[in-house]
Amino acid sequence: MSLSCFDLGERMLAVDEAQRHLEGLVAAPLASESCPLGELPGRVLADAIRSPIDVPQNTNAAMDGIALAWPAAAETLALVGTVLAGSHAERGLAAGEAMAITTGAPLPPGADTVIMQEQLAFPGGDRVRVTRPDTVRRGQHVRQAGEDVSRGSLALAAGTRLGPAQLGLLASLGVAEARVHRRPRVAIFSSGDEVTAPGTPLPMAGIYDANRYSLRGLLDALSCEIIDLGILPDDSETMAAALSGAAFRADMVITSGGVSVGRADWIKAALGEVGELGFWRIAMRPGRPLACGWLGPERTPFFGLPGNPVAVMVTFLQFVQPVLRRLMGQPGWQPRRLTALAATPLASRVGRVDYLRGSYHSDSQGRLWVTPTGRQGSGILTSMVLADCLIEVGAEREGVAEGEPVTLQLLNDFS
Ligand code: AMP
Ligand code: MG
Repeated sequence: MSLSCFDLGERMLAVDEAQRHLEGLVAAPLASESCPLGELPGRVLADAIRSPIDVPQNTNAAMDGIALAWPAAAETLALVGTVLAGSHAERGLAAGEAMAITTGAPLPPGADTVIMQEQLAFPGGDRVRVTRPDTVRRGQHVRQAGEDVSRGSLALAAGTRLGPAQLGLLASLGVAEARVHRRPRVAIFSSGDEVTAPGTPLPMAGIYDANRYSLRGLLDALSCEIIDLGILPDDSETMAAALSGAAFRADMVITSGGVSVGRADWIKAALGEVGELGFWRIAMRPGRPLACGWLGPERTPFFGLPGNPVAVMVTFLQFVQPVLRRLMGQPGWQPRRLTALAATPLASRVGRVDYLRGSYHSDSQGRLWVTPTGRQGSGILTSMVLADCLIEVGAEREGVAEGEPVTLQLLNDFS
C-alpha cells in the first residue's frame, strides 16, 4: 500500500476508496506448487493450461444407432459391422453401407452421419432400413474431434479457481497435476473479555463467540488453511505477543472486536509495538470501524474487523476477500452482482453504502425481486441465516422505494 492507508486518519473513507487502498496490502500472490488432480479442488491455477490433446480425441457418435457415409443413397443399407465405444472400426464405409455404432465410438473412416436406433428397422439379413429418411441431416449426431477443446488451445486461464466443472475439464485433457498457488494460511482470533467459547458455561456478562466460527466458514469456503488461535482478552500485552506470533506463522491475521471508537486503545497499543497499522472509518453499514495494515518484520497483512457478527461477515466479504484472492492468485477479483427490484421499501442513508440482508426470487414474468430477511442490526445473525444475498444500496441513495432496482451480491458464491 502506498501506505496512504496510514495517512487516511480519521477521515471517513468510501467503500471503493478503501478497497483501492487495500490492493497495496499484498504485492504478489503466494508461491506456486505442483499438486495432483485429487488435491486441486478450490485451488487457483498459477499457470494457464493448454490442451495436450483434442477433446474429444476422435470424431465420434453422439447416439446409439448406425454410422453411414453421406449421402444415404438408399433407405436400406448393408450392415457391414459394429463399432462399440472403446474400439474402432477395422474398415471404412462405402456408399450404401452402414455400421452399428454406440455412443462415444469413433466414426469409421468415410462415415460422417449417425442415425439413432429409434429411427431404424431391421428387416433381416445384414440389412438396416431408415424409417424416416426425410428427417436425416448430413453430419447429425456426430461430435467432431476437438470440438470441446482443440489440441494446443487455452483450456483454463491462470487465476482460474478450480471448481467441479474446471476439475472435470482438466481431467478430460488427461492433466494429472497442475501448478497452483499455495493455500493462504490465515490466523484468526476473537477478542473481548466477555467473549466465551461455545461448550463452556456462559458467564453473567458473557456472549458466545460467533465470529471465529463465521470466519472459519468463510475461510473454509475459500479453501484457506485456518490457524484458530482462540479468544484474546482485552489486554495489550497478551494481544501484542499473540499477534506477533501469529504474523510469523500465517499469511494473514484476522481479529474481530476491539476496534470500535473508545475501545480501540488496547489494540492500537498492541499494534503500535508489533506492526504498522491504520484505523479506518468506512462509510458503510454495518461495519464502520476497521483496522488494517501489516504485522511483524514479515509484514503479514492484518485485518481488525468489528465485533458485531454481521459486521464481521460483511467486512470480510467486502475487504478481506479481495485481499485473500490476491494472495490466492486472483488479483482484480470482484463479487458477482445482479440487479433486482425491491419488493418492499428499503431504508438507507445518503453518504454511506448500506448492506442489507435479503432473499431473492423471480416472478412469473421472469423479474427478479429481493426482500429483506428481517431486522438489520449488526448483531442480528438470524436475518443473515435467512439471507441468500446482500442488497447493496449505494451511498448516493436515500432509501429505495418498492419496485426500484437495487444491486445484489450473492452470498455463498465462492466460485
Ligand atoms: P467491540 O468492537 O469489541 O466493542 O465489539 C462490538 C460488539 O460485538 C460487542 O457487543 C461485543 O460483545 C460483540 N462481539 C465481539 N466479539 C464477538 C464475537 N466473537 N462473537 C459475538 N459477538 C462479539
Ligand atoms: Mg470487544
